[in-house]
Amino acid sequence: NTETDTVLIDKPDIQRIYRQRPQFTHKGMYGHSLIIGGSYGKMGAIILAAKAALRAGSGLVTAYVPQIGVPILQTAIPEVMVETDNFNGKVFEEIDFQTEANAIAIGPGMGTDEKTVDAMSAFLKAQKAPIVIDADALNILAKRPSLMEQVPDLSILTPHPGELERLIGKWDDDFDKLEKTAKFAKKHNIIIVIKGAHTITVYDYKLHINTTGNPGLSTAGTGDVLTGVITGLLAQGYHPMEAALMGVYHHGLAADIAINQYAVEGLIASDVTAFLGRAYMDLF
Ligand code: AMP
Ligand code: MG
Repeated sequence: NTETDTVLIDKPDIQRIYRQRPQFTHKGMYGHSLIIGGSYGKMGAIILAAKAALRAGSGLVTAYVPQIGVPILQTAIPEVMVETDNFNGKVFEEIDFQTEANAIAIGPGMGTDEKTVDAMSAFLKAQKAPIVIDADALNILAKRPSLMEQVPDLSILTPHPGELERLIGKWDDDFDKLEKTAKFAKKHNIIIVIKGAHTITVYDYKLHINTTGNPGLSTAGTGDVLTGVITGLLAQGYHPMEAALMGVYHHGLAADIAINQYAVEGLIASDVTAFLGRAYMDLF
């Protein structure tokens, strides 16, 4: 039986984490985010994540996508740079980028093709700093559990319940789920963000329960937006635990503000991104 501590994360906690920008700065001081993912028919996921990283304040953002995605990305977001592999594919087959990124996320929309699994395996071996792992990158880890050994310390994994189950196996009840997740996080020295209503961020047997967000978030693409926000914060130099807690809170707060305009039924993922700025204003 493991001891877990539980804390609620509220506005004062985020105010303590948040660092105001000084006056004399340039984009190079706010980091470069690299978001890896996308595949034929699922380029939207990487567009959502890349745009959210910009709205979270990342100075520069590069998307790494299969070749089929280059014109799509370049048309959708002029602020984002794009890199691609040397193959002419619908999924990427290697991950070979020039970008000097301060923060990397992998997974949104990328599929689980065997070529992509191999590409991710080679990519993970080369990583030393913490990365954000979401969506199909989590499914690839579930497919090839030996890859967990290559995940850098303090990486942030953001599974929804289905992805979590594929990763750690079935649980009996909520208590068992949290205990299994805490053990898995401890074993690999990683941060796990269990998404859902009251998202729980788990690290070192401590459970951090988020207090923002609403059922409007139960819609396509909101998880991709969260990945972008956390990556954008990581790029700006926030510690992985700060980026995870602040990102989850900020994403939920943006949704709470956005439903005043769109209602829970009408909210879509891009609205959350659009309201990230209002959420920053609401923090103070
Ligand atoms: P994904 O399933 O990957 O698209 O992620 C969904 C996102 O929406 C996560 O950040 C969840 O925490 C959030 N979310 C989904 N449903 C709710 C809800 N009922 N209340 C609060 N947040 C939610
Ligand atoms: Mg998702």
